[in-house]
This record gives sequence, C-alpha cells and structure tokens, in this order.
Amino acid sequence: MPTFSPDRPMGRPLMLRALLALALVAQPVAASDLPDLGEVSRQYFSDQEEQAIGRAIMRDVYVDPRYLDDPEIEAYLNQLGYKLVSVSTRNQREFTFFVVNDPTINAFAMPGGNIGVHTGLLLAAQSESELASVVAHEISHVTQDHIARMIAAQSQSQWPTMAALALALLAARSNPNVASAAVASTQAYSIQNQLNYSRDYEREADRLGYEMLTRADYDPRGMSGFFSRLQRANRFYDSSAPAYLRTHPLTTERIADMQARSEGSSYQQVEDSLEFQLVRARLRAQENSPADAVLAARTALKEKRYGSETAARYGLATALVRARQFKDAESEVQKLLSGKPASPMIQQLAADTALAAGNQALALQRYQAGNAAHPGYRPLQYGHIQALLAAGRNGDALKQVDKELSLYPLDRRLWRLAAQTHAQLGHRLQSHRAQAEAAALSGNLVAAIEQVSLGIKAGDGSFYELSAAEARRREWEAAEKSQRKN
Ligand SMILES: [Zn+2]
Repeated sequence: MPTFSPDRPMGRPLMLRALLALALVAQPVAASDLPDLGEVSRQYFSDQEEQAIGRAIMRDVYVDPRYLDDPEIEAYLNQLGYKLVSVSTRNQREFTFFVVNDPTINAFAMPGGNIGVHTGLLLAAQSESELASVVAHEISHVTQDHIARMIAAQSQSQWPTMAALALALLAARSNPNVASAAVASTQAYSIQNQLNYSRDYEREADRLGYEMLTRADYDPRGMSGFFSRLQRANRFYDSSAPAYLRTHPLTTERIADMQARSEGSSYQQVEDSLEFQLVRARLRAQENSPADAVLAARTALKEKRYGSETAARYGLATALVRARQFKDAESEVQKLLSGKPASPMIQQLAADTALAAGNQALALQRYQAGNAAHPGYRPLQYGHIQALLAAGRNGDALKQVDKELSLYPLDRRLWRLAAQTHAQLGHRLQSHRAQAEAAALSGNLVAAIEQVSLGIKAGDGSFYELSAAEARRREWEAAEKSQRKN
C-alpha cells in the first residue's frame, strides 16, 4: 500500500487529494494486516471521520479552477437542496451544495454530504422539478451511506487496489476523463463497475428521492421526464449524458418504476421559481465572449424566446455589465426594478451594476434597500461591505462585517471581507487572523497556521487580540497534527 500525503498536491487537484485521505481512512491498517470487513461494513465511517473527509474534499473543491465561485448561484442551489433535505425522513446531517463549471450533464455525491452539480445540468433541466429530482436522488445516496457501503463491500483481497481506485472512481463522478486515465493506468478496469452505484442503490435513491420531491411540492413527473431524456440522448448521440449514466446505471425498468410512481400521484402543475430562471440566465450571460453574450441575450428577448421575460431581461443586463456597457445595463435594470417580482437576485444585479459603473452612492443605496427587503440573503451583504470598502468607508465596513460575522461565524467569504477591511484600516494582526479563519473554513489548516503566525509576528493589536490569535494557533496546530496522523 503506497503512502499518500494529503498535503502533497497532485496533477489534478479536484478531489484527488481528498479522496486519498478517504482511501486512508477507509483502510485504517496496513495491507499486511487487512481490516475485518465485517466490522467496517457495519460501521462505515465514524461521524468525525466523515466530517474530516468532507472538509478535505471541499478544500480541494474550493481551489479547483472549475469550482464556480458565484455566491448567488450557490445560494440558490443550497436553498433548493435544503428544501429537499428538510423533508427527508432519513438521517439528518449537514450538506454542502456547490456548482462545477462544466458543460456536461452531471451531479455527484461525496462523503460528508458534499453534492456537486454541473452547470451543464442546471442548463439542461427543462424545469425546476427536473433539477430537484436529480438533487433529491443524490441526497438519498448520501443519507443511505451508499458510497461508504460500496467501498466496505469490496472483497478483502481487493482492498489495497480498492483504496487507490476509490479516489479515482469517486473523482469520476465529477470528471470521467480523469478517472478513465487513472483506471487504465492501474489496469484494473473491471473494478470500476463495482464502484458505480448498484441497481439496488439506484432503486433506493429513486424511491427516497421521489418521496422528497413530492413532500417538497415539486412535480414528481420531473424525475421520469428528465431520466428518459437522458437515456434517449445516450442512445442516439455521443452526447454529454454518459458522465452521469456511467455512475448511475439507468435502465428501462428504473424509468418504468418512476413513471408508475408518478402516475399514481394527483396531477399538479408546479411553477418554476423565478430564481431558477434567473440562475440559468446568469449562467448563459457568462458564456462565450461578452459581445456574443449580449447579442444572444438581446436576440432571445426580442424574439420572445424565453421562459420568463424578467429572467431574459436579467440575462441581458448581466451580459451588458460583463461587456462594460453600463448605460444600457442601467436602463434594463430600471425596467427590472419597476416590475413586480421582487427577487434578491434582481436587487443584487441593480446594486452590482451601479458599483461596476462607479456610482458608489447609488450602489450603497441599492445594497441597503436590498438588505432591508431580503434580510439574511448573504450575497447582498457581501456586496454592501464591498461597496463600503470601495467608497473608503472602512469604519462602516468594519461595523457591518463584524455584525454579519456575529450571525454567520462560519462564512469564509465574510472572513475574507473582514481581512480586506482590516487591511484597509492598517490592522495587520486582525487582517492575517481573518485570512486564517477563511483558510481554516476552506479546510486548509496549514495556510491558517501560516496566516495567524504572520499576524502574531506583525506586532500590532491589543493584548486580548494577541492572546486570542495564539489560542487559535494552538487549536489549529493540534487539529492539523491529528489530521496528519490519520
Ligand atoms: Zn444514483
């Protein structure tokens, strides 16, 4: 069994390092002293192990260039995900939903309740219920411990290879190209199929996913509709479908089961949320060159090719900001603001447009109005703090960021803004300390220790701030040491 250092970066960072950590946790003893699988399969991972794996996974996700660092789209996906989780009758745990910038249709679940959704899936879904059905299916793989059970179910003699392969194959849930290379190189292609979800797991995830979907008031027909389209696409074209189909075997029987289930339910027309349409318009506005995105959005609006006029206009304004055509963007924003639907994403776009155009007073006014109308919508709070910093109102920014941090102390984006605020105020210790907190929350304890040490060396800050930083450093050092031991 080769030894892996979770801190050594690999060729492709996404998930590989984390999954090496997973492989190590999954195989707690040396190859010469093989684990008793009966024991492992009864217990899978402990809660603490699973949390540690989950944090390691997210650390790699956050530094991957394909991770879509868009607070608004992430907020939408987490809202949809938690709407489903909250009606699940299965074990309750924390989930993290994140978006991967990848045009293929895919979604994948990993240990620690981390669920990734490709932008390709967000765009390919023809209704919000279709998107929800895939997310509900993935949530069920997590609540039923399917991944841990798959690893634990392998025969004992395959364990050394299994541990190495587990990471490659789990990475495959995100990117099939990476995994097939890794699998070919170990010449153990047959094992690949054993780590794809079995039909029993698929059936279980379908059934529980369906329950969640109906309880959360989505259209249960979204499930059979989406999966039949995936299968048709797979049959006739060399399309982007197989990435998902390879890890989630789809059979005619599964689709028939889904249809039978939804036929039994009473017909209900479920309307997509405005945010579902706005998120898709936002993604489209980021595609291609800014000029092309503007042209595509203008054409769609003019020819009325849209599900929602508001979303089409929102997409056009977003593309115009991207193309730095601020005057035209502002005129679309005005039309959006005079319309009825009040979405925090529209307030945000209005404020962001003013900020990008250099109108700080208008931006601040819009962020404040947005925060008052949608308290708790964090992307607007980030924008408000950024606008205060841009206007040089550092003291006000500090008041605001401290207030938000007292409510959301685990928000890594708020800590990054706190670091920037303290830096603008010349507080070196506090700025490094805030960067350290952000790093620790992103799962990177080594960087956290480095930053807090720089802060302690900076020589400013009060006695109280210094003691607090030193206590934090001791905590992180202890946590990092125990992580390395694992
Ligand atoms: Zn599945």
